[in-house]
Amino acid sequence: MIAEVIVDVAAYPIDRPFDYAVPPHLETVIQCGSRIKVPFGPRAVLGYIVNLKEDSDVPEEKLKPIAELIDLEPVLSEELLQLSKWLAEKTLSYEIDALQVMLPAAMRAKYEKFITVHQLENIQDEEFRQLVGNKKRIPLKQAAGSASLLRKLKSYAAEGIVSVDIAIGQQTEVKKTRVVTLADRDTITSLLESIHPNARKQKDLLHWMVERAGQTIAAASVIEQSGIQSPTLKSVIEKGAATEKYVETYREPEAPRLKDTAIPVSLTDEQELSLAKVTTSFDQGNAETFLLHGITGSGKTEVYLRAIQHVLQQGKEAIVLVPEISLTPQMTARFQERFGELVAVMHSGLSSGEKYDEWRKVHRGEVKVVVGARSAIFAPFENLGLLILDEEHESTYKQEDNPRYHARDVAIWRAQYHHCPVILGSATPSLESFARASKGVYTLLTLSERAKKQSLPTVHVVDMREELKEGNRSMFSVPLAEAMRQRLENKEQTVLFLNKRGFSSFVLCRDCGTVVQCPNCDISLTYHRANECLKCHYCGHEEPVPLQCPECQSEHIRFFGTGTQKAEEEIARLLPEARVLRMDVDTTRQKGSHERLLRQFSEGKADILLGTQMIAKGLDFPAITLVGVLAADTTLHLADFRAAEKTFQLMTQVSGRAGRHELPGEVFIQTYSPEHYAIELSKAQQYEPFYRLEMASRKQFGYPPFYYITLLQFTHEDLLKAVDFAEKGTRFLKDNLSPETVIIGPAAAAISRVNNRYRYQCLLKYKKEPKLTETLQQLIKIYRTDWIKSGLLMSVDVDPTSIF
Ligand code: ADP
Ligand code: ZN
Ligand code: ZN
Repeated sequence: MIAEVIVDVAAYPIDRPFDYAVPPHLETVIQCGSRIKVPFGPRAVLGYIVNLKEDSDVPEEKLKPIAELIDLEPVLSEELLQLSKWLAEKTLSYEIDALQVMLPAAMRAKYEKFITVHQLENIQDEEFRQLVGNKKRIPLKQAAGSASLLRKLKSYAAEGIVSVDIAIGQQTEVKKTRVVTLADRDTITSLLESIHPNARKQKDLLHWMVERAGQTIAAASVIEQSGIQSPTLKSVIEKGAATEKYVETYREPEAPRLKDTAIPVSLTDEQELSLAKVTTSFDQGNAETFLLHGITGSGKTEVYLRAIQHVLQQGKEAIVLVPEISLTPQMTARFQERFGELVAVMHSGLSSGEKYDEWRKVHRGEVKVVVGARSAIFAPFENLGLLILDEEHESTYKQEDNPRYHARDVAIWRAQYHHCPVILGSATPSLESFARASKGVYTLLTLSERAKKQSLPTVHVVDMREELKEGNRSMFSVPLAEAMRQRLENKEQTVLFLNKRGFSSFVLCRDCGTVVQCPNCDISLTYHRANECLKCHYCGHEEPVPLQCPECQSEHIRFFGTGTQKAEEEIARLLPEARVLRMDVDTTRQKGSHERLLRQFSEGKADILLGTQMIAKGLDFPAITLVGVLAADTTLHLADFRAAEKTFQLMTQVSGRAGRHELPGEVFIQTYSPEHYAIELSKAQQYEPFYRLEMASRKQFGYPPFYYITLLQFTHEDLLKAVDFAEKGTRFLKDNLSPETVIIGPAAAAISRVNNRYRYQCLLKYKKEPKLTETLQQLIKIYRTDWIKSGLLMSVDVDPTSIF
C-alpha cells in the first residue's frame, strides 16, 4: 500500500504529495487525514496522508517507508482534505499551509533534538555522567549551554556511545490528570487489618478510602480531602488499595460572564420571517446563502440563536463566527447561556492548550456549536447544519497571511458540501455581499427596526472647520465637550472613539477640509515623512507636500494624525473630575485585559471609555447615552478604495453603542468633511442610499465589486532589486494574461519600507480572467525555484480587503 503525503516542508519549490510505502503492520489501521512521521531527505518530518493507493510511479527500491503513525483517528476528515486542496488553489498557497491552517497550532509539528544513550557504562566523564544520570534519553537543549558538554557529546557520538536524533512531537500535548480507582470494601478492610499499627498515616488514609470504596477520584482530590501526603497514597496503592492511571482532561478557559440577557418571549414579525426562511432552507437541505441585513439592535443575534436551536433539534451542528471574539465577550456569553455545555469557544485570547482542548471537544462530537474567530470556520464538525458570520463585512475575516483565505468563502464552500444554509449578518454589509444579494445570488433578509422599538440615537455632525474658525484648537468641539459635561452630571456614561490607523496619514486643509488626492486614482495621497512628499501607491504618482491648500489657498494645511494618549490628556484638562478608561493596543496587551476594562466600565467604575476601533463592536451597556467620534476623517481619507465603506461601517457601529436600552442616546461625529456621503448617510443608518452612491464610485474607478482584484507584492532589502523583480513579475503577467485585464504598477506600496525591506506592488483588475490561476501559479513557480534565492519575497493576495 502506498500513501500520498503532504510533508511539513514549506518554501520547497515543488508543492505536491510525495509517495511513501505503508509498512505492513500499519496497513489495516492507516487512514487518510492522519498525521505521520516520514523521512524527507536527511531528516524526519511530519506529514499528512491525503490519499491511499496501491501503485506508485516511484520505483519500489526508491520508495521510503512511513516511520510512524501519529494519529490513530484521522485529524482531518475527507471534507477538510478536499477543502484544503481547494483552499491551496484558490489562495495560491502551499498545500501544507492550507492543511495546517485547519488545525489548532498546538498540533503543528515540534522538532526537538534528543541525546540517546547506547552504552551508559562507557561514559567515564563525570560532568557528562551527571547530565545523563540513569536516563536513556535526554533533550539536547540540556547540554546546549555548555561548550565542554557539547565537545564531549561530539566525541561520544563519534564512538557510538550516544547518538543525537530528532523527535517530532506536537507543540502542545494533551493534558493528563492522575486518577485513582479505589478497591472494593473487602480489600481495603483486610488491608486495614493487616497493616502495621505504626503506619498511622496509611491507616488514616485507608479509613478514608473504605467510605469511598470503588470510586474513581482525581489523585489531587484524594490528597486534598484526606489530608495526607503523596508518598502515603503511593504506599497504599502499592499495597493494592487502589489502582492509578492518567486520563485525558480539558483545560477550562475562564468564561467571561458579564450579564444575563433575557430571552425574548416572541420574535418581531421581521425576525419571524427571516427565521422561517432560514429554517425552511435548512429543512430542504439547500446550500443557500442569506444576507441578514439588520440595523444595530434589530435582533440579528436572536435570529441566529433560534436558527441554531432548530438545527440542533434536527441533530445537526452549527458554526458562528464573530470578528474578534475576545472583544465581544457579551456575544459569547449569550450563546453559552442558551446552549450551555454544547458550545465550544475558539478565540485568540485562549492559550494554545485551551484552543487544542476546544478543538478536541468538537472533533469528538462532544459539542454541537462553535463560536469563534476566523479560524473556527474549520471546526471539524461532520454534520454541519448552519454556518453564520456575524458582522460579515469585517476585514478580520480575511487572513492576511498564507493561506490568504476569506472565512466567507470557506463558509460557502462548506455549506455546499453539507447542503446547509449560511447566514451573513450585518448592519452594514460589504458592498460585495449586498451586490450579490441584489442580484439574487444571496437571499436578502431585512430587519429594519430595532427589536425593542427604541429609536435610533440622535446623531449630530460637528463641522470642525467651523470650530477652528471660532478659535477652538482642541480635539473636542464645544458641543461635544458640553454633552460630556452633562453626562458627567447625570452620572451617565460616555464612549469616545478615536480611529487611528497608525502608519497612514494624509494631508488635510483645516480651513476647507480638502484632502490632497491622486489625479488618476481617486484615493488620498499618502504623506511620506522621509522625503516630505505625497505619493499614490496605486499608480506611483508623486508630488511635493503643498504649502498652500490647492482649493482655498489657506496655509493651514498639514498632515493629519492624533493619538488616544493626547486625547486622554485633553479630557483631563477639560473635565478634571471625570474617571477615564483608555482602551487601545497599549492598555490591552495582557491576556484578559479587554474583559477587565469592559467589566470595570460596565460596573460604572469609569465615566468615559476612550478607545480605538476595538471598542466599536459589541459594547452593550445601559448607561451609555453619549458617543463621540473625535475624528471621522482618519478612515475617510485612508489611501484605500474601501475608505468610504469603512467609514460608513464604523460610524454606524459606533453610533449603535448609544441608547440601546431605556435611556435615549446621542452621538457626535466630529469631522472636517461633514458633507461627505459616508458621514451624512450614516446619521440615520441609511445603508441603501450609501450603497448606491458608493457603487457608482466603484464602477467609475473600476474597483470591486465591479472588478475583481489581485495584489502582488515584492519585497527586498535592496531597493533596486525590489523594483527589478516587481518589473519582471509585472512583465510576466502582461505577457501571459488576457489584454482585457488591467495591470497597474509596479508602484511603491503605501508603506514603502517595512523592516528594512522595500515594498513594491502590482495590482490586477479583471472581470473575467480564465488564465489567472494558471499564470499566477507559473509565476509563483519561477519565484520559488529561482527568485527566492536572491532574497526576494513575493506574495499574491487574491481579493485583498485593502490595498496597502
Ligand atoms: P443585533 O445583533 O441586531 O445588534 P441583538 O440580537 O443584540 O441585536 O438584539 C438587541 C437587543 O434586543 C438585545 O438586548 C436583545 O435581547 C433584544 N431583543 C432581540 N429580539 C427581541 C425581541 N423579539 N423582543 C424583545 N427584545 C429582543
Ligand atoms: Zn483649503
Ligand atoms: Zn494614483
